Amino acid sequence: MKLKNSRPSRSWRRIAVILFVATLLAGASRAGSLREPDISETPEMAAFAKEARQLCDEVYPKILNLMAEDPAKLPQQFDLIFRHDQAEPGLTAGTKIYLSSDWFTKHPNDLGALVHEMAHVAQQYAPGAPGHWTEGIADYVRYTLGYTNGWSYPHCSAEFPHYTSGYWCTSAFLMYVEATYGTKVIRRFNEALRQGSYSDAFFAQATGKGIDTLWADFQKTAAYQPSAAAAFKAQALRAQKDKDACTGHLLEIEKAIRAYEKDNHALPNWLSDLVPKYIADTNVLVCPVTQRTGKTANFGIVDPGLPNVYLYEFSASKIPWGADGGDGGPTMKEYKLRQKELVGVGVPLIRCHLHEPVLNLSFNGRIYESPLGWEGMFTNAVVHLEDLYPNRIFPQGKD
Ligand SMILES: [Zn+2]
Ligand SMILES: [Zn+2]
Repeated sequence: MKLKNSRPSRSWRRIAVILFVATLLAGASRAGSLREPDISETPEMAAFAKEARQLCDEVYPKILNLMAEDPAKLPQQFDLIFRHDQAEPGLTAGTKIYLSSDWFTKHPNDLGALVHEMAHVAQQYAPGAPGHWTEGIADYVRYTLGYTNGWSYPHCSAEFPHYTSGYWCTSAFLMYVEATYGTKVIRRFNEALRQGSYSDAFFAQATGKGIDTLWADFQKTAAYQPSAAAAFKAQALRAQKDKDACTGHLLEIEKAIRAYEKDNHALPNWLSDLVPKYIADTNVLVCPVTQRTGKTANFGIVDPGLPNVYLYEFSASKIPWGADGGDGGPTMKEYKLRQKELVGVGVPLIRCHLHEPVLNLSFNGRIYESPLGWEGMFTNAVVHLEDLYPNRIFPQGKD
């Protein structure tokens, strides 16, 4: 399954181009990086918003210089919107930064969090950029510009123990690479993520050492604290346990689906259709990670009988990211059956996004791991990636 935002539709791309040109024009005619902060929901933040605006106008150009050879290619302006009821201190979507008024009322000195969000505005990475690099580079920018505090500074510890954990630890690793191999390394790394040409091989090409060797070297520095090793080991063990238990569930569900198919001469519309005749214990339909943490990843496909169950790719749900917004369009089942015609029985029947990489049960009962976009594993000279997307399979949108 592809994420909604992993492949913008053609019209969206056209809008993006228009917006980008508009941004350039606006940038040319205005001095500041930040448009008037929006405090309509939080008038009490007026004084802080003024301070934030000064900081943005002063720091954002530095961020652009740090991140690109040609800063003009990055977004030149952005919006700052203050909100009540936002759990995260800061959130960035496109070129809009949302700040929590509660957080900044309590932590008015945490300007580093705002610098982190401004780095996100400048990033605008291609789809599929790993989240740990996105968050690691945002902190790398923040720390390189001097915005550390008592708890947020470049280091690996129990909280973020590995370069794949993101944030402090990933930034510490990147700062080590830069200090050892030169300043342009991370800028080029950032460019690769932006252009979608990134892979871990980048590090070997840029430094002559593979990422595992660099990581081993980094662990000898003071930024790698002793608590990190134990925490990472514990995380890895738990991840393996989760994966094993999840695999057991998926294989059990596969058996139940086959039995259902035998009786009904059709695939179930939902996993809840299997209950209770084919699956008595509904815990089998829920990933152990969900059972432990409550976390789910259904991408808008919600089983009407049982919420929080696995993502069943052949469900009766409309394609939630379909061109027409889902209502009159084809169902996931119609879509996936067509994909199966193209790539064969390796097409995922059930996916669990709560593991890294994603765990898949294929149509023919095989368990395999894949990136978020499994389709890339099935393309060849005959089947191209585009052939597997809804707008190619249903060119009229079927609506
Ligand atoms: Zn972030
Ligand atoms: Zn799982």
